[in-house]
Amino acid sequence: KVGNSAASRDKAFYLHPYTNLKTHEEVGPLVIERGAGVHVFDDAGKAYIEGMAGLWCTALGFGEERLVEAATRQMRKLPFYHAFGHKAHDPGIDLAEALIRIAPVPMSKVFFTNSGSEANDTVVKLVWYYNNALGRPNKKKIIARQKGYHGVTVAAASLTGLPHLHRDFDLPIAGILHTDCPHFYRYGEEGETEEDFAIRLADQLEQLILAEGPDTVAAFIAEPVMGAGGVIVPPATYFDRIQPILKRYDILFIADEVICGFGRTGSMFGTQTFGLKPDIITVAKALSSAYLPIAGVMISEPIYQAMVRQSEKIGTFGHGYTYSGHPVPAAVALETLKIYEERDVVGHVRAVAPHLQDGLRRFSGHPLVGEVRGVGLIAGVEVVADKATKAPFDPKLAIGGHVARFAQEHGLIVRAMGDTIGFSPPLVISPSELDDLVERFGKALDDTLAMVTE
Ligand code: PLP
Repeated sequence: KVGNSAASRDKAFYLHPYTNLKTHEEVGPLVIERGAGVHVFDDAGKAYIEGMAGLWCTALGFGEERLVEAATRQMRKLPFYHAFGHKAHDPGIDLAEALIRIAPVPMSKVFFTNSGSEANDTVVKLVWYYNNALGRPNKKKIIARQKGYHGVTVAAASLTGLPHLHRDFDLPIAGILHTDCPHFYRYGEEGETEEDFAIRLADQLEQLILAEGPDTVAAFIAEPVMGAGGVIVPPATYFDRIQPILKRYDILFIADEVICGFGRTGSMFGTQTFGLKPDIITVAKALSSAYLPIAGVMISEPIYQAMVRQSEKIGTFGHGYTYSGHPVPAAVALETLKIYEERDVVGHVRAVAPHLQDGLRRFSGHPLVGEVRGVGLIAGVEVVADKATKAPFDPKLAIGGHVARFAQEHGLIVRAMGDTIGFSPPLVISPSELDDLVERFGKALDDTLAMVTE
């Protein structure tokens, strides 16, 4: 018999995404009822600072009326139309134009999807289609990175470099390869500088390309800052070392800006923060401040021109979703981009970021803290069993999960990725709210220390 509470109905009926089902049966859900500013409130009325902006996405916080109005206005005017076979509607056209105009490098066209996963799945097909168009159908392999996160659909999960997304699904699919993760703290060798490490990784990438055969490698995909893999900021010269290699072998560079896009790293795009020159950019999440689902793929002019030639030769580009560029989320995204510009959200991120970055770095001496890393309003704190040797805790202890649980008790929602705690608050967060966030996190660290030394 199912009780009336939200928690018991949740356990009875709701199959949660990305959730350990055994643990869920024991602990049940945290039911979030409403949001305001950077806070959310559970069904008992308790307030939490949303230190992760949900899933790295509610950039404008939880009460932006202008987005509600943009959605309702559009729903009244034209609740749905599509863009298949020469149809179009204003919100789609306006949003495509707005994105191309703010693109961090010259881009030609935008293809819309509903999610970041679909955007990256679309990229796989685009890359294949592009090389078919150029008459080199064997140039199909895509290189991604260990710990990169690109989504969960079959091709996007293949690009993702996390073993638990492959393990049970016979992934990655053929032709998707992974190169090393640029995390100096974890993978830098004895005596190596960050610069040496960047050179070694670039060299490894080149060796992989040569071993596979450059005429079989089509593209390389990377997040400017890795998010779900544990907030990994690459060494300063990493991308400078990688990009000439891609050029040398005529390999497309895909920037996955799903988390970094729209201000997160202190520039409009992570591409600008790290000096990237991508041929393809995927965006999602903060594109609409997550108020409605929408994502996109921006492509360069040469890719577009090749696609046009291929569609003349072969026929229609056989890919598109019913809701590609749905007018309601498109209208919301357009309003979101206007707000970013009007309120200079990027300038705000730069101004307040030290409250997060310096605030968290004050815990560098804490007995549990191995590394504090981040840029702009994205950060990670890695907890270790031994600071001197960097030895991690036994994974069975799920120590990161405990830190997140203690934070929740102190009214702060953060996300444990293994033993790294992630921070990605709404971009509109104020300095005092960031100070509050850091203070609550400090209490969670101390509670965790008390638990492990008990
Ligand atoms: N790419 C990156 C960098 C992401 O962080 C995510 C989701 O977290 C995705 C792609 C997948 O996006 P979605 O969950 O909207 O499918």
